Amino acid sequence: MHIEFIERKSTVLAKTTLKCLSEVATINPTIGCSHQCAYCYARGYSMYPGDGKVLVYENMAEKLKKELSRRKKLPKYVFFSSSCDALQPIPQVINLSYELMNILLEYNIGINLLTKGRIPAKFLDLFRKFKNLVHIQIGITTLNRNVQRIIEPYAATPTERLRNIERLCAIGIIPEVKLDPLIPGITDTKTNLHTLFSILQKYGINAMGINYLFLRPYIKKNLFESLRQTSFLKEILVHYQKSKPVNLLAEKSRVHALDVSYRKNSYHTIVNIANDYGISAYVCGCKNPDITEEPLCGINWGKHFKNPPEQRKLFAL
Ligand code: SF4
Repeated sequence: MHIEFIERKSTVLAKTTLKCLSEVATINPTIGCSHQCAYCYARGYSMYPGDGKVLVYENMAEKLKKELSRRKKLPKYVFFSSSCDALQPIPQVINLSYELMNILLEYNIGINLLTKGRIPAKFLDLFRKFKNLVHIQIGITTLNRNVQRIIEPYAATPTERLRNIERLCAIGIIPEVKLDPLIPGITDTKTNLHTLFSILQKYGINAMGINYLFLRPYIKKNLFESLRQTSFLKEILVHYQKSKPVNLLAEKSRVHALDVSYRKNSYHTIVNIANDYGISAYVCGCKNPDITEEPLCGINWGKHFKNPPEQRKLFAL
């Protein structure tokens, strides 16, 4: 992995175009992501530096401090991260992400971390200290290491992600789980879901966001390259034969999504299965606007916050 430091010129706290994050400040400590998930939409961005390369913003922590000291109104929460993973297993990234989170928490600003990485011990100590300001989402769609290794080659293993959940629960933070993206015929099978949910139930997981894989030309190309030696590729592409273009609830984002009746039926089944395990599952509205426009992703954030912010008005930018 080639790591390069770069200078951040624009503001650190940014906005994304996804509707569920439209009132949220977001931070991306890097350009590029070492996890190299086969389905990653960020790998198609014009600024993506290419596989095997991660650009780290060297001046971001200093810049964030200055930015916060100048602001009249601070955001209540900040989302890590919309186009990379803040916990990529790269010391420079880990150190920067830790510094950024520490600054925000010291300012009494909440953080919402979505990760497929391994959470290092020092982050757990930090999260324990600021428990009421931390919301964590663990991305996990399967416990099958062989499947996970193919679709998310450099992310944390399923065992490491369960260990994240276990350690978070031990410090009093029950994370939310993200089944995103579900891959038809591979990770949405009843066997896979029951196996996963029964373990999650044991940890007391009670909230889960679900969303199916959508395709764009470069996602298709990356999937093809990663999965061409496996039987998965044919299985996946068969499901997309009847795919339809859908506009995401994000600026200029048009994707090919699974047939709407397949998604509706399957989401219904998954919600019911999850319910049997005491887990409340919701469909990501931004990525399924033909099914629901409710941007429910943020609905659980800040529930434990002392003065809970109004839903969907969580952030003042
Ligand atoms: S962890 Fe997220 S940003 Fe990183 S490669 Fe995977 S999908 Fe892309």
